[in-house]
Amino acid sequence: MADDTLILHVEDNFENRMLVRRLLLSEGYQVTEAEQATQALEILKTTRPALILMDINMPDMDGYTLTNTIKTMPQMAGIPIIAITANVMKGDREKTLQAGCDGYIEKPIDVDRFLEQIERFLHQFAQH
Ligand code: MN
Repeated sequence: MADDTLILHVEDNFENRMLVRRLLLSEGYQVTEAEQATQALEILKTTRPALILMDINMPDMDGYTLTNTIKTMPQMAGIPIIAITANVMKGDREKTLQAGCDGYIEKPIDVDRFLEQIERFLHQFAQH
């Protein structure tokens, strides 16, 4: 079932999850979290978030592979996947886009800009 305010955050780092959760809840979003890729796939069996925030470096499967997997699931079509990545080496942004990510936000998260970035992505990929 689709939920316009629900955001799935895939991230193995506890402190990053707490920061993102705090920011999103303060703006009235709902948040569901996955600590690893397999957990994200489990959540997506029963949940259709408005947006997925995707860590790249995770222990069980990297965010590129997970994004690829989600993008092949017909029931997940149209859900934007935004990479949150510290991989700012030349070519890494392109790699997130090649993997099927619809955009990226750089780590460390800029708390003053984060909600505006989320809003912009939600607006950009809004389904009518
Ligand atoms: Mn990580």
